[in-house]
Amino acid sequence: MTSKLGETAIVVGAGMGGLSAAAALAGKFASVVILDRDALPDGLGPRMAVGQGAHTHQLLKAGELSLEKLLPGITQEFVAAGAKQMLVGRDVKVFDFGGWMDECDAGFTVTSLSRPAYEGILRRRVAALPGVSIRQETSVRRFVVTDGKATGVELEDGETLAADLCVDATGMTGPLMRQLAEDGHAAFETEDVRINVAYASAKFRQKPEHRGETTGFFFLPGPPGKQFGFLLPIEDDQWILSVGARGEDSPPKTIEQLVEYAKAFDARVHDCIDGAEATSEIRTFRKATATRRKAWEAAKWPQGLIPIGDALSSVNPTYGQGMTVAACTAEALSDMLDKRGASGAGLGGVVAEYLPAAAEIAARAWNLSVNSDYVYSETEGERPANFVMNRAMATTLRKLAVEDIDFRVFRLKLVHMVENANALRDGPLAVRFFTALQGSMAS
Ligand SMILES: Cc1cc2nc3c(=O)[nH]c(=O)nc-3n(C[C@H](O)[C@H](O)[C@H](O)COP(=O)(O)OP(=O)(O)OC[C@H]3O[C@@H](n4cnc5c(N)ncnc54)[C@H](O)[C@@H]3O)c2cc1C
Repeated sequence: MTSKLGETAIVVGAGMGGLSAAAALAGKFASVVILDRDALPDGLGPRMAVGQGAHTHQLLKAGELSLEKLLPGITQEFVAAGAKQMLVGRDVKVFDFGGWMDECDAGFTVTSLSRPAYEGILRRRVAALPGVSIRQETSVRRFVVTDGKATGVELEDGETLAADLCVDATGMTGPLMRQLAEDGHAAFETEDVRINVAYASAKFRQKPEHRGETTGFFFLPGPPGKQFGFLLPIEDDQWILSVGARGEDSPPKTIEQLVEYAKAFDARVHDCIDGAEATSEIRTFRKATATRRKAWEAAKWPQGLIPIGDALSSVNPTYGQGMTVAACTAEALSDMLDKRGASGAGLGGVVAEYLPAAAEIAARAWNLSVNSDYVYSETEGERPANFVMNRAMATTLRKLAVEDIDFRVFRLKLVHMVENANALRDGPLAVRFFTALQGSMAS
C-alpha cells in the first residue's frame, strides 16, 4: 500500500485543470482542498468565471483516456449524462484546407458534451474522492512562499491555509503567477503569440429527425479563409454551434446571423440548425493570445508549487487541446506521485521532476497549434526559424492523409494527441513520409 505523501494539498481553481489535478492528488494526501473564487453549480450548469464554457469543447481522445485512468468509469458517466460517442474519421466530419476529409475508421471514439457538463461530472466525481473538499467563493490572493518553498495560500480576506503541496490551476487569466513574480518568488518568461480569434456560439434543440445524431462537423478551411466553425451533438438532444474568425472580423451577434453564417460551411450543417429552436442566448468570446508561462525554464521557481492547465499554457482553442493537456498532465503527476509514494521518496524535488514532464505535454499542443496559427496572416509576430520546415512537414502529412488511409489515421491520432509527431521520424511511416517530404521540397 502507498503511504501518504503529506497532510494537505491545496489546489487553486476548480476548472478542468484543478479538478484533474485534485483527482491525481486524492488518496496521496490526507486532505486535498480545492479553492475557487466562483460560485459552483450543484449540477451540470454553466458558471460565471468560465466564460469559454458557452462554446464548443471537444475532449480529445488522449484527454478522455487520462481522465478515465484518473477516474475509472467517467467516460460511461459522460455517456449516461447524454454524451454522444462519435467514431473518429467517420462521425466527425472535417473540412480541412479546402475539402472534406474522406471517411475512415480511425479505430477510436470520442464523447461530445457541453463544457459545463464535462466539468460538472468531473466535479461530482472528484468531490466524492476520499479526503477531497471544495471551498467555493474563496478567492486566493497569493501563494505563501517561505525559504523558497510554497507553504500554502493567502486568501483575499487575509486568512492563510498551510499545505505540503500547492497547485496553481487558475486558468489563462489567473492572477497568481503574476503575483508570484511580483512578490519576488519566481522569475520566468511569458511567451505570447497574437492569434486574434473570436467565437460566437449558441445551443439548439435538435429537430426530431436529428435526435440521437452522433455526427459532428469541424470546418477549418485554412488560409486565406479566416472563418471556422464547429457543430457538435451534446446532452439533452441539443446541438452546440460555434463559429468564429481570425483577425478583426466580428463574429455574429444574433442567433439569426449565427445560422446564416453557418450556411457558408455546408448544406448539412445549415440543415441541422435551420428552423431548430435555440436553447441558449448567443455568446461571444475573443482570445487575443496563445500564452505560455515558462515555469519549466524559470530562473527562479518555488519548490512545492505545481502549475497546471491554462495557467501554464493556453493555446488557440480551435484545436481543442486545453482540457486534454490538463488531463494528460494530471495523469503524469499522478504516476510521478505514485512512484514517490511507493519508493518512500516523498515530495523532495517533485517540482523539478514535474515541470519538464508538464512542459513536454504542453509543448506537443503548443507546437501543433502555434505552427498552424502562423500560417495565417492574421497571426502577428515573427515566425520562428523552423517555421518553413514545420509547414513543409504539415503540408506533406496533409497530402499523404488525403491519399493514404494509414497517414489519415495517423493524422487523426496526432490531432487527438494519442500519437506523437516524433513517430514520423522513427515510426513505421517514417520512410514513406520523408520520401514524400523530399519530393515536395525538391519540386
Ligand atoms: C472559446 C473557447 C473554446 C475552447 N474549446 C476547447 C475545446 O474544444 N477543447 C478543449 O480541450 N479546450 C477548449 N478550450 C480551452 C479550455 O477551455 C481550457 O483549456 C480549459 O478550460 C482550462 O482549464 P483550467 O482549469 O486550466 O482553467 P479554467 O477553466 O479557466 O479554470 C480556472 C479556475 O480558477 C479559478 N480562479 C482563478 N483565479 C482564482 C483565484 N485567485 N482564487 C480562486 N480561484 C481562482 C476560476 O474561478 C476558475 O474556476 C476552449 C477555450 C475557449 C476560450
